[in-house]
Amino acid sequence: MRQAPHDRPLEVACPQCRQMVRWTEDNPYRPFCSKRCRLLDLGAWADESHRIAGEPAMDETDIDALLARADRDDGGA
Ligand SMILES: [Zn+2]
Repeated sequence: MRQAPHDRPLEVACPQCRQMVRWTEDNPYRPFCSKRCRLLDLGAWADESHRIAGEPAMDETDIDALLARADRDDGGA
């Protein structure tokens, strides 16, 4: 899916501070609103505290649990 460049600019919420940011060539820090937010977000990743907005975090433990449950549901016999 492509975006028409002359359509109204796409706006995204800054992952760090939720401020609406225009996704344009003018913003080298997109999807962040600023360099500060981008650095903060990188720091959050390093801290393993990052969460994707609206999505529950899934780590390997969760995946193992899902696989174990799928095994039980599947091959009960
Ligand atoms: Zn921001």
